[in-house]
Amino acid sequence: MDTGLLIAGVEGPAASGQTFEVLSPASELVIGNAARADASDVDRAVAAARTGFEAWSSLSPGEREAALLKAASLMEQHGEERYLEALIDESGSTINKARHEIRYTVDLLRTAAGEVRRLYGDTFPNDRTDRLSMVFREPLGVVAIVSPYNAPLALLAKMTAFPLAAGNSVVIKPSEETPQIAVAFAKLLIEAGLPANAVNVVTGFGADCGAPLVSHPDIDGIALTGSTATGKAIGAQAMQKMRRVQLELGGKSALLVLKDFDPEQAAQIAVQGMFNHAGQICMANSRIVVEAPVFDAFCAAFKQACETLPLGDLRDPSTAYGPLINRRALNKVIEHQRDALAAGARLLTGGDIESGLRYQPTVILEPPRDSSIWRDESFGPITSVVCAADLDEAIALANDSEFGLSAAVLTRDIVAGFKAARAIRSGAVHIGMHSFQSNAMAPVGGLGLSGIGRSGGHYSTEEFTELKWISVELG
Ligand code: NAD
Repeated sequence: MDTGLLIAGVEGPAASGQTFEVLSPASELVIGNAARADASDVDRAVAAARTGFEAWSSLSPGEREAALLKAASLMEQHGEERYLEALIDESGSTINKARHEIRYTVDLLRTAAGEVRRLYGDTFPNDRTDRLSMVFREPLGVVAIVSPYNAPLALLAKMTAFPLAAGNSVVIKPSEETPQIAVAFAKLLIEAGLPANAVNVVTGFGADCGAPLVSHPDIDGIALTGSTATGKAIGAQAMQKMRRVQLELGGKSALLVLKDFDPEQAAQIAVQGMFNHAGQICMANSRIVVEAPVFDAFCAAFKQACETLPLGDLRDPSTAYGPLINRRALNKVIEHQRDALAAGARLLTGGDIESGLRYQPTVILEPPRDSSIWRDESFGPITSVVCAADLDEAIALANDSEFGLSAAVLTRDIVAGFKAARAIRSGAVHIGMHSFQSNAMAPVGGLGLSGIGRSGGHYSTEEFTELKWISVELG
């Protein structure tokens, strides 16, 4: 399928006429072409979004709420027929992951619709009794949305729905790997009743489309979900013009397995937390820290669980995960494994290409703490397991990272669980489950290299609105 830019509701080519190929990760074959936008297309999209902002923000809350609820209903009714195949073909999702994205998108759109009526202001006492002071919450204006490839529908919905609920218009720059899904999602929003110029999409690459968008003089805010490297570039750009910016970046999320927890069950939870979507999940448990008394039993159970993961057809509901998005991503996993093994780590299981871009579930034991697999995001089906003498060492190992997105502690000991949860520096800590958790109301985001700001529910509203103090002299 070919995809154009979507500007003011009209799908069309880039001004230059250039396109780029979209590949299926499963077959590595071309499945379509997408318009390749540059700065002149970005200008058109931002100009449309500026008028779209006037149209959308002047609607009543009830009208904005109705449009977002209609979008949720359309997604609920037609999501499978419109997005399922695209999620499998374009992003290499399994059918289960694709279905989860569609269901979660419905939830996100409904939650965002609820936020429309919660754009609360404030009042506060004034010592000058003849003066009134109040605080109004106002949308930023035009928000640039730069999204990644790994959950191309649900993450885009999350990044888009909440700024829209607050009254902003958007220009979306989706990942160059997944342009079709983004354009199809924007069309659904317009079909649901959003003004056509309030939702615009420019497809293309980071350098020639993303960069001119985030540095455009007429945007008012930026949301990026992507790698830390891109976050640093966009963050620096945003500070040049003091733009509001929300950055959801990479992770190196620790899973702590404490000595009281059943190692067999821990292994099953670790498999889910780590290998979902081939580890291409920002919150994947790419560092597993196990207390010494259960270390051997956990490793044995984890090895067996990895070796029996079904890696069949993407449309088979039992398939655990599919291919990596591209060769670059595959090479990064291979490189992290090679460096760790060369530095003396051991391979517990996996370590090879399964077929095409699909890599075996791979577990590295005791990598050096300065190795890339311990320090950097691998974003693939590879994790490391290390042994901790006790809870304090487990916490210290969890904190031995510049990332801080999500973490998890497997224990039935509430005191130990809370102690770890409070001590781990991370945007989230989950007790009794793995670290890959989603909830439309939750504040998702990280510390350190994992980013700035939070998304979800009213936390997104905080990010994409400005406060204005208005006072009135009555005397
Ligand atoms: P990426 O950083 O390569 O790309 C993200 C987006 O940024 C793409 O649309 C890309 O074209 C664009 N981009 C790249 N350079 C740019 C520039 N200089 N200016 C403007 N735009 C630019 O990330 P990716 O590989 O698509 O996604 C994977 C990354 O996303 C991982 O690091 C993962 O951890 C992260 N991620 C984080 C979360 C979270 O909630 N924290 C969620 C999902 C993914």
